[in-house]
Amino acid sequence: MTGTASGLDARTMTVDGVALPATGTLDVIDPATGRVFAQAPDCAAPQLDRAMAAAAAAFPAWRHDEAARRALLRRSADAVDAAAGQLAPLLTAEQGKPLDQARREVASTGRWLRYFAELERAPEPAPEATPGAAVEVLRRPLGVVAAITPWNYPLLLAAWKIAPALRAGNTVVLKPSPYTPLTSLLLGEVLRPVLPPGVLNVVSGGDRLGALMTAHPTPRKISFTGSVATGRQVAATAALDLKRLTLELGGNDPALVLDDADPTAIADALFGAAFVNNGQACMAAKRVYAPSRLAGPLVEALAARARAVRVDAGTVPGAQLGPVSNRPQYERVGGLVDDALRHGAVAAVGGRQIDRPGYFFEPTVLAGAADGTRVVDEEQFGPVLPVVAYRDLDAVVRRVNAAPYGLTASVWSADPGRAAGVAARLEAGQVSVNAHGNGVLPHLPFGGHRASGLGVENGPWGLAAYTDLQVRLRPATG
Ligand code: NAD
Repeated sequence: MTGTASGLDARTMTVDGVALPATGTLDVIDPATGRVFAQAPDCAAPQLDRAMAAAAAAFPAWRHDEAARRALLRRSADAVDAAAGQLAPLLTAEQGKPLDQARREVASTGRWLRYFAELERAPEPAPEATPGAAVEVLRRPLGVVAAITPWNYPLLLAAWKIAPALRAGNTVVLKPSPYTPLTSLLLGEVLRPVLPPGVLNVVSGGDRLGALMTAHPTPRKISFTGSVATGRQVAATAALDLKRLTLELGGNDPALVLDDADPTAIADALFGAAFVNNGQACMAAKRVYAPSRLAGPLVEALAARARAVRVDAGTVPGAQLGPVSNRPQYERVGGLVDDALRHGAVAAVGGRQIDRPGYFFEPTVLAGAADGTRVVDEEQFGPVLPVVAYRDLDAVVRRVNAAPYGLTASVWSADPGRAAGVAARLEAGQVSVNAHGNGVLPHLPFGGHRASGLGVENGPWGLAAYTDLQVRLRPATG
């Protein structure tokens, strides 16, 4: 069976510009009901070979005409915008996020495609004079890029890879998460009439398909977004034939509140930064450190916001947080909260699964959490925020910098200059003052330090990651 009466779900893989049937299917579950609502194709190895071959065949022509690539990326952005009415409800159905947030993700997908269409590439810095030779330093596309994405922002994170890879002259095989394959498949369908055959291929399947892609001899680059554990496996496999690699991995992003901050004044922004996408965002604030004197009032201010937020199915008008996106994540969040409560934390609000079908979890603020508790030390990736009381700021900075992760971080204070001084001491790919994760923009590099990743996406830096440098020399004349 492929598809049901909803009409949202009869999606196909795109290979060489046409629909490629698969021999198997994957169930896709609506997290707001916990029920299967669609099947997606389950790509087997021979079909993956066809996708890789199509991408390799399309590469020589695609790499040669940058003006055409820019024009087609612009048209791709227009096509995504025009398909928003189909893409957004499908995103809500498979991922769970409220419809207005799904619409914003679709709009951002178009924005990223347009950004990379318009980006003016600066020439490489001219090298010093080379005796006897005229020298040029150029950037060349790599070939086929295998793009592997997670389930939290399936469309947007696909665009973060597709847009720079195509702009640089590469061709792409994209594999979304098995939890959220449908919007990426629909994206492939939407772009079929726009892009030449083989330039963008979209396949769907389970984790095994990702491993097959990483080990496949055709791609010259793997661009991966997902967990640290999977990222390590991807890096190990890619090393065997020295594929280029970008890894955007997990974070456990700290927010440090200084002793002059006003809990009521910062609570809205901090709550929004922690509960964005129901906490399922790589750059969400995932643990708060507050001076002992302020921890109580801050917990209460955050809990008040959590009580006021409307949790419901993403299709319900006014819903602000949807369900957790899939069952394993829902169970993991519940397990981390139970563990914290057993180890002395107190739920100022929330703390439980909501008693209704689907994967709904109460927005939860934990007081009395401490370093050494799993919910503080690990990435929870859900609607749960622990607040850790501290006495010694220097000790907090040392603890944060000693953690395995380093994606985003923030410092909150009535004195932004003082906060900037503390922020400068933090090891993370992005550090903000009186905001958190606010630099996730097409023109800024985004990436993690330490175990949070390798390389960056976005901006000219992200574009360069889809190229290799070439030095060209010829005899100097005259
Ligand atoms: P995941 O690692 O389980 O899966 C990510 C993708 O990898 C999926 O498509 C999956 O099918 C595929 N995959 C699984 N095993 C594979 C293997 N052995 N080889 C190749 N591919 C394989 O991650 P997830 O649960 O889908 O996503 C959540 C994680 O992603 C969180 O840790 C989150 O922080 C991270 N994330 C990071 C960023 C960032 O930009 N740094 C952005 C979003 C999400």
